Order: sequence, then C-alpha cells, then structure tokens
Amino acid sequence: MSVSQFFLEDKYLKSIISGYIYRSTQVEMAEIIENAFSSYINTCIEAPTGSGKTMAYLIPSLSSSNRIIISTKTKQLMNQLLYKDIPVVQKIVGRNKSIRSLKGRKNYFCPYRYFRFINPKAAFYIDAVSWFEENSKYGIIIEAPWGRLDNDICSLMTADRYQCVSNKCPYYEDCAFYMQKREANAADIIITNHFLLLSDIAMKSKDSFGSIFEYRDNIIFDEAHSVPDIFSQYAGVEFALSSLMILVYENKDIITINNVDKIYREFLKIIDKIKEPKELFEPLRHDFDNFINFISDVILSLDNEEIKEEYNTYLQLYKEFNSDKEGIRIVEKTMQKNNTVLTLKFIPFEAGADFVSGLKEAALSSIFVSATLSSGGNFEYFLKETGLDGLCETHILENVFDFHQQGRLFVPNISSFKEKDKVYKELISNMSGSALIICNSLERMQYIEQFLRRLKINKKIYTQSDVNIGELDFCNEDMVLIGSATLREGIDISGGGFKAVILDQLPFEYHKDIILQSKAEQISENSAKSFIDFFLPRAVLYFKQAVGRLIRHEDDYGLWVVLDNRILNKNYGKYFLDVIYNVEIIEDIEKALYFIKEEKHG
Ligand code: SF4
Repeated sequence: MSVSQFFLEDKYLKSIISGYIYRSTQVEMAEIIENAFSSYINTCIEAPTGSGKTMAYLIPSLSSSNRIIISTKTKQLMNQLLYKDIPVVQKIVGRNKSIRSLKGRKNYFCPYRYFRFINPKAAFYIDAVSWFEENSKYGIIIEAPWGRLDNDICSLMTADRYQCVSNKCPYYEDCAFYMQKREANAADIIITNHFLLLSDIAMKSKDSFGSIFEYRDNIIFDEAHSVPDIFSQYAGVEFALSSLMILVYENKDIITINNVDKIYREFLKIIDKIKEPKELFEPLRHDFDNFINFISDVILSLDNEEIKEEYNTYLQLYKEFNSDKEGIRIVEKTMQKNNTVLTLKFIPFEAGADFVSGLKEAALSSIFVSATLSSGGNFEYFLKETGLDGLCETHILENVFDFHQQGRLFVPNISSFKEKDKVYKELISNMSGSALIICNSLERMQYIEQFLRRLKINKKIYTQSDVNIGELDFCNEDMVLIGSATLREGIDISGGGFKAVILDQLPFEYHKDIILQSKAEQISENSAKSFIDFFLPRAVLYFKQAVGRLIRHEDDYGLWVVLDNRILNKNYGKYFLDVIYNVEIIEDIEKALYFIKEEKHG
C-alpha cells in the first residue's frame, strides 16, 4: 500500500485524528519521503507551517521496513513524538515497529561517578541506586525526585562524554545510558535529538571509535534549519575550563588544598585579563598555555591514575582546540550562579565537508525537513553550510494558508525611535487580541517592556524570560509577549493566538559578534558580498520563522508588523517580501487596526 492511500482514507483518519483535514501538500511530502526511502536519495523539504509535516514523515517511516533515525531539535519535541504523535500513527498504519529513544549521557544516572563522589555520610546523601531500581527503568535523572532540585548534586551523578570512561567502567554492562543505547540500536526506529546525533556524526567524521549510533538506512532531521549551527559546535572543539576546575575541586583532598588554592589563583589571573564576553584567543594564547602547563605539573605528578586519566582527556581537548585547522578560536566569558565560566571555542570555517563525511558513516541517505530552509526561493545557503550542494534533491512545498486573505503587512512610515514608540502605543493600546513583539537584542526587549508598562495598557505584558510560554492562553486573553531570537521559532502555541506579530527591526544579526564577523570575512573580504551571501540569507530565514508565528490555522487572521522601512526602501527588502509575496501592504494604522477587528472576520 502506498503512503498516499493512508491519507485518502479520509474517514478513517478523521476517526483517529480529531480535526483532521486532507491537505495535498501533506500527501505530496509523504510521497517524496516514501520515494527517498526507496531510492536512498538525500532530500531537503521545506514544508510550510500548517502542512502537517510530522504526520507526513511519520506515516512513511512507520510503514517502511527501513531502519530509521528520527532526530528533532529538543527533548520536548522528542517527547511529543514518542507519547503523542507515534501512538496515533501506529494506529493508522497498523504496524507495531520497535521504537526506542536515546538522549545524551547527561540525562542518565552514572553509578561510577555517584560512588566516587557521593559519600553516604554527606548531608545531601541520596540512596540513588535503590531509587532507580524501584522507580526508573532507564535511570533517567530528570525522573528522579531530586532531578529538578540541585544541579550540582545531579552533575555528580551523571557523566558527560569526557567524564564517562565507557568500557573501562566497572558498571559498563548495567549502565543506564549504554543499556538504552544497545536497545535503541536494536530497534527499527530511534527517536533522538540533534545535539546527540550531530555530536555523534561529528565524531564519525573524525573516526568512528566510540560512536553511539549504528549504521542506518535513513535519517530524518526534523527542524532541520538548526542542523548547520548545531553541527558546527561539534565539528569544532568546545572546552569549558569549568570542567577542569570541577575536576580539581572534586578531587581537592587528593590534589591538596594548597595546590587547589594555587590553581584557583592562576585561574583568577586569566579571568582578570578577559574584559569582553567574547574575545579572540590568539592574544591570550600565551596565558592559557602557561595556565595549562601549571595544572599539568600538579596533576600529572599525582599518584592517582583515575584523576590523571580524566585530566588527560581535557589536555587532549586543549590540544585539539589548539590544532592548526583553519577556523575561529575564541574565549567566551559568562556568569553562572555568580561564578565566572570560561569556554574555549574553535569553530571550523568549513564544517560542511566534515558533516558530509560523518553523514556517510551514519546512514545511506538523509532527509531534511523544516518550514524554513530556503531563502530567496532556493536552498543555496543551507546546502553550502551543510556541504550537501550537489548531493541533495530539494523541494519547496506550497503554502497551505491563504496569506492574501488572512493577513496584512503593516509597515508604518517611521524615521525615528520616537515615531516607533508612537506606533507601539497606538497599536498595542487599540488593538483587540494578543501581540508578539520580536526584538533583535535583549536591550530593546527590556526598553519596550518598560515603555509599554508605563502606558498602563489593558493587557498583560510578559517577556520571554519570565513566563512558561506554553501555558499562556493567547487566544482567550489579550496579552503582549516580548522576546528576542528564541521567540522566532522556540514557542509552540497550539491554536495560534496572536493578532499581530511585530518585528522591532528586520532580524539581521549583530555585526559586531566576532564569530559571525570572522565567518563573514572568510566568505569574502568584500563586505557587500558577505552581506549578500551570509547575513542576508540568515536574516530572511529568521524573518520566515517570525512570519510563521501568525497564521497557524485556516481561520487565523492578523497583521505582520515590520517597524523597519528598509523592507520597502532597500533593494534587499524584496527577499523579505517574497516570504509573504501576495500580501497587501498597508502603511496606515487605522486600516491596520480595522483589519484585525474581530467582527470583520465573523
Ligand atoms: S559507562 Fe560511563 S556513564 Fe555509564 S556508569 Fe560508567 S562512567 Fe558512568
């Protein structure tokens, strides 16, 4: 039976999925995926919001005999697949394939570190072994009652990939992570997230020793627009010096308090030299080399093989960070619970070649699915970043909503921040329904929040940092939600709910970010070319994500508001306008407010 038959059984689907509507776009996508499974062709699919892409890839996946990995962006999305979508699709296809999920090591209980660091005499002692035996089949740490309480204690009971000693561990056979890994590799379908899968693909691109996932027929990357940025984190090297300091602290009795003190004093000297949140590593290289040499002298002279072995892993990481590979090397300085955290990051210029070679070791073919993959009507930017140019079929599926009827683009003619404030005041005070405001910086987010609060408007005001967004009901209560980049894609509000999605500016990234600057310079020293090839396609993709927040259903209607005249006045504005190509543009606020009056839409 071909997959399209499942969708044509309209009555049957309606009885299983409440509110099911037949959509030709969904069927087209399912057929493309079915074909990609049998022909093993790498495929990119841009499926617009509302096309039902989850069902469109789950139905072919569960009715195929191929062994498949489905990877999505977050653990929440994994849970949604496992507990909500897959049980429904199993009913539809009538096949019970074996399905397992796998998360990163840090999600599972690690008895090796628990017995090493958690002392039964300590005030915070937890009898974790008994608890996991009685309550949690897979030893998932977040399921435990203390999982949400104390991150510091949890981190002593879990291992990251550098802390895990894998097959040298006395608990290896019974280790929750490795048991789950073995079960996952034996299953027909694995559900995982991009962070684990892409770190594994990066490892396979170097050598496959220690990799987690066995070879598969196909991989489906959902939310695939995030693949290039996440992969480049793993293709490079990231070394948090806090891991090294935790190793020192956790073993203070063996290292001796005197030596621990000396190490901390050296660490503080480095912290003092770093003035900005992100700095290039090169001018600081000498200081870091001295610091690492100092710790090496202390730790490598200890008579304790376990500590030396863990330390050598970090030393190796520092050497990898310092290799002669071409890329950007930076030091990042952040604050966590009043502690300064220093992270060394190496980001290679050409991660695409590594991605392709790792992918070849992972599966016969891969399918990339997202609502935002193309920019300017093509996949050039995505294919270049992933190295898949010439190795991939591409499909842009048709919009399922009637943007022309359901939305208007409101671009008021403003030339100053004062005029922008005036538009915010008139629009938010007089509109009915909820508004989402997306800013390019946290400073702007805070400014707009304060400005709107001073107006004492009759709407609740929230920012991304102070609410559990998923629990807010934007449909039935008038609210304003203000946020920055994470709000463009990171919210899932079923039923939509906004009558206006407002972009405070076109979503160009901050040009002074040293990572973006270096990447753009590597593309071209000509700033106009790096703008066209790098900053512009990224901004158009972010714009598309923001646009997708407004119309989520056939009966939604609302305004896209762009408080940035460059969308109309600059040549590159057309790339943004193409995203909502047949929508009427209005400049007059009265017309904008009239369009979203409830009675007009019945
Ligand atoms: S194998 Fe790794 S994660 Fe498992 S118990 Fe041992 S050290 Fe911990």
